[in-house]
Amino acid sequence: SRRQLARLKDLPATTRDGQRVQLEANIELPGEVASALAAGAEGIGLLRSEFLFMNRDDVPGEDEQFAAYQAVIQGMAGREVTIRTLDVGGDKLAHGLGVNPGLNPALGLRAVRLSLARPELLETQLAAILRASAFGRVRILVPMVATVEEIQAVRATLEKVVRRLKRAGVAMADPLPPLGVMIEVPGAALGADALAFNSDFFSIGTNDLTQYTLAIDRADEAVASLYNPLHPAVLRLIQFTTEAAKRARIPVAVCGEVAGDPRYTALLLGLGIRDLSMSATNIAVVKQRVRGLDLSAASRMARLVMEQSDAARIAGLVDGFSSPDG
Ligand code: PEP
Ligand code: MG
Repeated sequence: SRRQLARLKDLPATTRDGQRVQLEANIELPGEVASALAAGAEGIGLLRSEFLFMNRDDVPGEDEQFAAYQAVIQGMAGREVTIRTLDVGGDKLAHGLGVNPGLNPALGLRAVRLSLARPELLETQLAAILRASAFGRVRILVPMVATVEEIQAVRATLEKVVRRLKRAGVAMADPLPPLGVMIEVPGAALGADALAFNSDFFSIGTNDLTQYTLAIDRADEAVASLYNPLHPAVLRLIQFTTEAAKRARIPVAVCGEVAGDPRYTALLLGLGIRDLSMSATNIAVVKQRVRGLDLSAASRMARLVMEQSDAARIAGLVDGFSSPDG
């Protein structure tokens, strides 16, 4: 019931056999911090910063961005906040940036590609994040990375901005915020080993990873029935990414819609994921699922799933999975 879910807020997300899981919120604007905390979010796993740039004709400057990031960081009161750099393009338009959507917006000049093509945009955003980092625990997450060179270029820009701010005597977090990569392009997942050497953490964006792996536009109703994160190819990419992160000893989270869907909780935990970031409204129901399941049973189910090549059989295993008495 609704009341039972509300009581869950202050209970830990721990499996029956004692595995602690981190449940975080995806938010778009600072105004959502209060509801994320009310839902029991242990951090912000994804701040979609592009929403500061959308639905307006101008571009937010460094001070405006700083104020927004600072509000989120202070609002979260010591909990970790993962700020994603600008992810415009595709379905997310920001008129103020004057970007030509190109021949195919999903495959064009978007996300990190746009940030690297417009260095003043990236430098302004990184300066705002670095200034805000003095107020709490911040991580910086880069969207749509496909190559090692892209994350290396972002890191070089970050270091340049850090030097400039230091010269100006600006306070920043010490140590500096970790710099991570979203794994949401199939080539990034397949190249996760190399990316892990250049990243402080990974966050798997299953929405775009599914879209690009299966060549299904995530917003197109005409092909919505073909959109399936349980397709074995998508699961293999998630598994490979998770194992690459483990080998490199860097943290890995999932922040796509599957993270907030209790149907997928056991499978994701069974694959080794311990950090899920989702819409705040889903935290209670996912926590209930975590608390009801047995990780060793979930791991056995995940191993069986990974031996399958048929998506319908996988869906059957995932839906048929149940914990000892739940
Ligand atoms: C994703 O692609 O899974 C993701 C979390 O990012 P967005 O939905 O903002 O593209
Ligand atoms: Mg995405």
